[in-house]
Amino acid sequence: EREFLMALAGNPNCGKTTLFNAVTGARQHVGNYPGITVEKKEGFHTLNGTRIRLVDLPGTYSLTAYSMEELVARDFLVNDRPRVVIDIVDASNLERNLYLTVQLLELGTPLVIALNMMDAAAARGIEIDAAELARRLRLPVIPTVARTGKGKDELLAAAVGEATKDRAWEPLHVSYGPDVDPALREMEKNIRDAGFLTDVFPARWTALKVLEGDEQVLGKGREADPELSRKLEATAARVAEHLEKTLDSYPEAIIADHRYGFIASLLRNGVVRQNRKADRLY
Ligand code: GDP
Ligand code: MG
Repeated sequence: EREFLMALAGNPNCGKTTLFNAVTGARQHVGNYPGITVEKKEGFHTLNGTRIRLVDLPGTYSLTAYSMEELVARDFLVNDRPRVVIDIVDASNLERNLYLTVQLLELGTPLVIALNMMDAAAARGIEIDAAELARRLRLPVIPTVARTGKGKDELLAAAVGEATKDRAWEPLHVSYGPDVDPALREMEKNIRDAGFLTDVFPARWTALKVLEGDEQVLGKGREADPELSRKLEATAARVAEHLEKTLDSYPEAIIADHRYGFIASLLRNGVVRQNRKADRLY
């Protein structure tokens, strides 16, 4: 019997624990208790002789080093290397939820998306073309209602399908604009040439984190290669200074703007439609 390690990732309150319980038969507490899921919970599900070891990660909006939840989630992703991550996205709040998705893809995480809360989205007149979103992202996007179990079997089948495929997951490349991209490219090259943390993070991810001043990545980097760390941090400081002078802004703000720009273009031309009549239920 083969076993795949999988994880559930998503924003707080997107229905992660509800789906986890539905899949594993566990009875974890469901509800609006921020911080309650800082520890990872683990359960099992068997699908046609394939065992899924499923980990319910803490809910996060981002993958920075600012909160325990985010550190636990991203440490798990880079250290335990789940074969597939099921990214639960609240369909009634798609743009905001995709912000984490973009970061998971930048980290190079193999992903399947559960487009959850389809009932809530429909009740609000929101229609999402899941197939088109899947095509644009080049990964499975499965509509679900975790509370009723709708879509759960399709989701698990898609996750096992991805796990058994021999697909190389290239980290997503988001463009950060003319003020940041050239420096990022230079840092990326230095990182690649030196093999700097490349066993843990994609090169562009490390460069972004140095630019953001991510304490955990900076710490790891200084330990691994103090000289290159100084060089990268000097480049980051130069970019930060330039952004402040020319745009009255700072790296994290510019990075967030471009991620939201990427999401906006991803959803352009009818992926999401708002119906006036919101009386149909999923
Ligand atoms: P978590 O914070 O991501 O673990 O989210 P929970 O599983 O605790 O769910 C948060 C709330 O959303 C709970 O009240 C769930 O019952 C509810 N919920 C979960 N999935 C769905 C869904 O597909 N549709 C609707 N309408 N509510 C859901
Ligand atoms: Mg939860």
